[in-house]
Amino acid sequence: MGKRKKSSRKPAPARQKVPLDTAFTCLFCHHDKSVTVRLDRKEGVAQLVCRVCDQRYQSKVNHLTEPIDIYSEWIDAADAAQKDEQGMRRSTATSSRAVAAAASVDSDEE
Ligand SMILES: [Zn+2]
Repeated sequence: MGKRKKSSRKPAPARQKVPLDTAFTCLFCHHDKSVTVRLDRKEGVAQLVCRVCDQRYQSKVNHLTEPIDIYSEWIDAADAAQKDEQGMRRSTATSSRAVAAAASVDSDEE
């Protein structure tokens, strides 16, 4: 009686073997669909690469990770890297200003 219900259940999808390939717009060269994200859930890694400017990014994946997650992670990482660079430049500017101030004290002597 209740047994019949079981046969109407759909079998679980079993095509997780194929890694997903998805294309996005590149942050750096702005080419449309030049960025490819490959998810390897078996290895637990994701590889993002732009085939135009050869930008690369690697991250970890879990069973919930989608290519778009890796892409947005990449954007965040690129953003952070850019801020880092700016911060470094600023601190360099500060120290060179200190040097300039010291130099101006020196030149005052002349
Ligand atoms: Zn690119």
